[in-house]
Amino acid sequence: MNNVIAVDIGGTHFRVGLFDEAGRRLLVSENATLPAGGREWVLEQVRDHCRRFAEKSDYPVKACGMSFGGLVDSQCQRVTSVHFAGWKDFALADWMWEMLGVPCRLENDANAGALGEYTYGAGRGLGSLFYVTLSAGIGGGWISEGKIIRGRDGLAGEIGHLPVSDTGVLCSCGARGCLETFCSGEAIARRGQEWAGRRSETRMIELSGGAIEDITAKAVIEAAAQGDMAAERILREAGRWLARALLMVIRLLNPDKIVLGGGVAQAGNLLLDPVNEAIGELKSPTIGFSTAIVLAELGTLSPLYGAAVLAREAAGTPV
Ligand SMILES: [Zn+2]
Repeated sequence: MNNVIAVDIGGTHFRVGLFDEAGRRLLVSENATLPAGGREWVLEQVRDHCRRFAEKSDYPVKACGMSFGGLVDSQCQRVTSVHFAGWKDFALADWMWEMLGVPCRLENDANAGALGEYTYGAGRGLGSLFYVTLSAGIGGGWISEGKIIRGRDGLAGEIGHLPVSDTGVLCSCGARGCLETFCSGEAIARRGQEWAGRRSETRMIELSGGAIEDITAKAVIEAAAQGDMAAERILREAGRWLARALLMVIRLLNPDKIVLGGGVAQAGNLLLDPVNEAIGELKSPTIGFSTAIVLAELGTLSPLYGAAVLAREAAGTPV
């Protein structure tokens, strides 16, 4: 028997897991990141958690898999994301390899999430799957016949930057009209703040501790769950934008399933119902399809499970 370590580094959280060679989760820890701490703080925390898990492991740790919440050069196994200061061009897999003394594989969180759902979650037994991570930003991962499809520049599946409109706020990528600016966690939070700034009768304010500028996507989702009309409307609009992009995915790739994961997908049917309603309205009446749109079975842990798959591959264990 051998075990593997999986690590998922995101913008707001980092997770570390210990898995056995059958892919069963033995230990997991989830922690908030300290935005002021920067890269060194995150690395220090990850190192401590990994070493602790390696010590607790009944069997030797054979390999490590990592998911990073930003762009990654999978060929060079380096972070290329510029979204978090200090990470650009960091050789994260090499750092981990040196630290743990075992082989390490790195992917971005959307590809890792896709792998996790394909192997252990909603995509088990399927031929193809498109995974969408809806968190602060939006990413996508495309798996066909068990393989991650990357494209020439590693950008295949990057649904967050599909230009769905000619107008809108400036996207983090520098363009305008990207899907991410309409239905990411940041976009939903911004819509909540805009609404609350105009009309004060919404649960969103109370759920955020009284300060309009503190309204988050989580507060919008919670308010919608409590029947707040404004919050429900924001999620309906976000769902409609997402539906447009998912229809494009279906038209281009026609996957067996589209899986929605990430923090915003924790809204469950409050998001999925508007998406399916909008797809019903927008789709062609004559070109039918059977691609199902479902929620991630592994919740917010899809990328961590995907990291475990990477680790098992690095360890040479058949997945
Ligand atoms: Zn963009």
